[in-house]
Amino acid sequence: MDIEELKAVVTDEVDALRSELVELSLRIHQNPEVAFEEVKASAWLADYLEAHGFAVEKGICQLPTAFKASYGSGKPVIALLAEYDALPEVGHGCGHNIIGTAAVGAGCAARKAVDALGGMVMVVGTPAEEAYGGKVFLAERGAFHGVDAAMIVHPHVVDRASTRTLALIRLEVEFFGKAAHAAGDPHRGINALEALIQAYNGINSLRQHIRERERVHGVITHGGEAANIVPAHAAGVFFVRAESEAELNELKERVLNCFKGASMATGARLEYSWSSYYAPLRPNLALAELFGANMGTLGRNVLPPMRRGLGSSDMGNVSVLVPAIHPAVAIAPREVAAHSPEFAEAAASEEGHRGLVDGAKAMAMTVVDLIARPEVMRKVKEEFADAPAGQGAGAVA
Ligand SMILES: [Zn+2]
Ligand SMILES: [Zn+2]
Repeated sequence: MDIEELKAVVTDEVDALRSELVELSLRIHQNPEVAFEEVKASAWLADYLEAHGFAVEKGICQLPTAFKASYGSGKPVIALLAEYDALPEVGHGCGHNIIGTAAVGAGCAARKAVDALGGMVMVVGTPAEEAYGGKVFLAERGAFHGVDAAMIVHPHVVDRASTRTLALIRLEVEFFGKAAHAAGDPHRGINALEALIQAYNGINSLRQHIRERERVHGVITHGGEAANIVPAHAAGVFFVRAESEAELNELKERVLNCFKGASMATGARLEYSWSSYYAPLRPNLALAELFGANMGTLGRNVLPPMRRGLGSSDMGNVSVLVPAIHPAVAIAPREVAAHSPEFAEAAASEEGHRGLVDGAKAMAMTVVDLIARPEVMRKVKEEFADAPAGQGAGAVA
């Protein structure tokens, strides 16, 4: 069987599984589970893979809702990554039901390539992309050891084989003040909410003097107990983003100073912690070229590789360890915003199902390229090895 015939076999297999994949995607969509609570979604995806001949390990790397499913043996090892966490309130407003199901569909279809030519296809279930970064922990704890290339496909408003993302870090803050009667004894109180609001406004002022692509945004998660008690406790979560790790480190300090300044001004004690560093995505362009060509055969208008980052993903942490891509597949018109109820609706629509199927097909066809053509796999690895210093494996924070 030549490569084109084998690609037809894997795409036919995705079509054969279509109704089951759509049912699985809709079931996850209708049962949204937020970061690290994806008990049902991870089990449904892992069980489906097990029923299709994969060897499944659940709860890998001390993450109960992560899993690894492998089929075949030997080299190359191609990892397809699944996400399945939802957002609070907007449910699957990022369409991770499609990401998870596309990875599973591509994995099942790629069995045909493994049966014909050898190698291994692996589906890795990666929880909590939206909040804590399951891949941050999976990458640190060795889940991608021995993997030769990794792919994930994200629903979007355009089709693109190569995207970029910003470095991100999460900041959790708490201010501790002193409760007092807000009218009777205000001079005895220390107002933790005022501290948080001053810091919030400080960030608003800072924003005028940061780089174009840098982002700072957050929410107040606790602001006091009652209007007549001076708030003794206030808390918030903020994300800080920049194009590189070095620029992020500069910005982090400036953001933290907004909180330190507010602490001094109000007398409220500050406690904070930084966590979940998402590395900027380093797309492997050789791999993206294969994926883009395959996606083009499905009649999609594949846009050129993104030059600068937008948003962030813990896939960045995978991309500094192994050659990786994070392509986008269109499921909604351009005017639809990600993380909105409209995007959640698209993730369960006919166009969403088409995105799922085409994403799975393009990944499965790319697995065929990597397994059937050793020279292509070599080119992907050479590009990865030639990356500029500081962007290799050691760059994961
Ligand atoms: Zn998202
Ligand atoms: Zn997402």
